[in-house]
Amino acid sequence: MFALQRELKLNNVETSLMRGNAGFKRWVYNFGLELLTASWSFEDIKASDSKRLDAIKKVFTQVTMQRPEYAWMKLYPSTVYQSAFIDLKDAFSRWRKGLVEFPKKKSKKKGDSFRLYKTAGIYPVKGEPAQAFTNRVVINAGKRIKLPGLKELRLKEGVDFICSSQTFTVSRTADKWFVSFMLDAQKIPPVIHPIISIGVDLGVKVLATCSDGTFYDMPVTTKKAKIKLGRLQWHNRNKVLGNKKLKIRASNNARIYYTQLAKQHAHIASIRLDTTQKMTTDISRKAYVIRIEDLNIQGMISNHKLASAVSNNCFYEIRRQFTYKQSHYSTKVELVDRWFPSSKMCSKCGHIQPMTLSERVYNCGRCEHIQDRDENASVNLMNAPIDKVRLA
Ligand SMILES: [Zn+2]
Repeated sequence: MFALQRELKLNNVETSLMRGNAGFKRWVYNFGLELLTASWSFEDIKASDSKRLDAIKKVFTQVTMQRPEYAWMKLYPSTVYQSAFIDLKDAFSRWRKGLVEFPKKKSKKKGDSFRLYKTAGIYPVKGEPAQAFTNRVVINAGKRIKLPGLKELRLKEGVDFICSSQTFTVSRTADKWFVSFMLDAQKIPPVIHPIISIGVDLGVKVLATCSDGTFYDMPVTTKKAKIKLGRLQWHNRNKVLGNKKLKIRASNNARIYYTQLAKQHAHIASIRLDTTQKMTTDISRKAYVIRIEDLNIQGMISNHKLASAVSNNCFYEIRRQFTYKQSHYSTKVELVDRWFPSSKMCSKCGHIQPMTLSERVYNCGRCEHIQDRDENASVNLMNAPIDKVRLA
């Protein structure tokens, strides 16, 4: 199984429909939460949280939803409120087990989300095999998607292949809406790779350098966007988004600022994610065995000079993407021992010489081979001896 996520391309009507769905889900969640906690004060009722929530759901569908003032609820797919009850059960059972804090009311500030699935099927129950699912929704290749209970929507980036899924989660980050869904890996056609193996050197200066001579850069726009973010934060350094305990209401300007701030953060994150996703997909399509360095990320982040650059280029995220794309693109991701001297070794003759971080070109002292530092390292990663390599 792996997940696909796509940004939705919505017009104003569709955006308000998504907001409506998310608002409905939030309303039901908070309704259930309130009634459940209230029911605990009646000591003569002895029932589990799950049983209580079932009873509350009955009250909701048979009484609340039938009231004329709540007629608007019938405009939304029933899976929206059903998944709210599923989430509540889940939240309370996790709380009872001591895994999470007491479930809180949902608020609009924390972002919106709701789930959709085909009702005629069986909703996945935790711990049951995936085969129990019936009635999958088929997603055609292309830039359109039909979600259960909603009209067809447009996607910013298309889906490459025909596939099917059970459950769809629609969520909002700042002002962008996304749909994500799980796919079974075996339903995807096999991929034929033009290259058998590739070494990928993840770097600070260049995002990724490959042993076949290609390289990937982080776009300049992230730098611009970060400058804009810094400026925004400095100009608004004294703004506070209200305080419920002190009964201070957020000013309109503060509210505008926090929306802008969230947008800018999301903008940077989405450029980064977009670039790394494209890069890892591209390489996964190209090569069967992908070798990357098994970096001591913790160690590098504690080194302050490297910290910003490393977290910028998100090594860990790249490794994660390569790893989960294995099943989709039938690749094999291998990690090369972090003590393997990929930068210090000559990729032609195997000579090892010291290399400082500032030396950008490898100039071999033995065979006089000259190569770009990162390219030399990527070739070494590709050719690393098998005892220095482990599966990701
Ligand atoms: Zn050499």
